[in-house]
Amino acid sequence: MIRLSNIHKSYPVGKQSLHVLKGIDMHISEGEFVSIMGSSGSGKSTLLNILGILDNYDTGEYMLAGTLMKKLSEAKAAYYRNQFLGFVFQSFNLLSFKNAMENVALPLYYQKVSRSKRNKLALEYLERVGLLQWAEHMPSEMSGGQKQRVAIARALISNPKVILADEPTGALDTQTSYEVMEIFKEVNQSGKTIIIVTHENDIAEKTDRVIRLKDGLIIKQEKELLV
Ligand code: ADP
Ligand code: MG
Repeated sequence: MIRLSNIHKSYPVGKQSLHVLKGIDMHISEGEFVSIMGSSGSGKSTLLNILGILDNYDTGEYMLAGTLMKKLSEAKAAYYRNQFLGFVFQSFNLLSFKNAMENVALPLYYQKVSRSKRNKLALEYLERVGLLQWAEHMPSEMSGGQKQRVAIARALISNPKVILADEPTGALDTQTSYEVMEIFKEVNQSGKTIIIVTHENDIAEKTDRVIRLKDGLIIKQEKELLV
């Protein structure tokens, strides 16, 4: 589903350049539940933004579902994002003036799906994350864990093949984090490929495979055996 070969990425910093990804090789199969784990500044978000076609890389190759993702036009990038990818962020990124159902329905609004059809689907996805009763509530009335579940439902509604989540539990307490990871696990069991970025070991351990990133390089791709 996802194959990276020798990906390099630098950011210009003044007249200098900061080499962040230093030759990433990675393969993630359809249906996997993986985490990308590393300390702050190790390049996790940079890597996830490349996977999400939100940013370009300098050299190497990124193949998504058999197609090379390189130097795409904004329209092409948007097409592949809409076709294949769903996003979940640390800060939920819900619209504060829309209720839970409307937030979940939003991707379908951009796809010009009629209001009745998108709201009906949004309710189905809210039910999947256990929030049907909260459909009419505004984000300000919901807990962090509930907001993240709304965000997961929103990521799912366009039926992406892959969910990309950048520190999805970063703003949640431990108990709520584990509940959100349970939702990801269920979503994975329904057939979605899930890639979660985290700097927390206990979160990474909830996934089936941990890819460890250090100083812009992958140091370990297999799940460690817990002794
Ligand atoms: P992580 O998500 O693992 O904390 P990031 O990928 O966000 O790491 O950042 C990796 C490094 O790249 C950090 O040193 C960060 O300061 C730097 N960086 C990230 N984005 C930019 C940018 N747009 N411009 C310059 N430097 C950046
Ligand atoms: Mg980050």
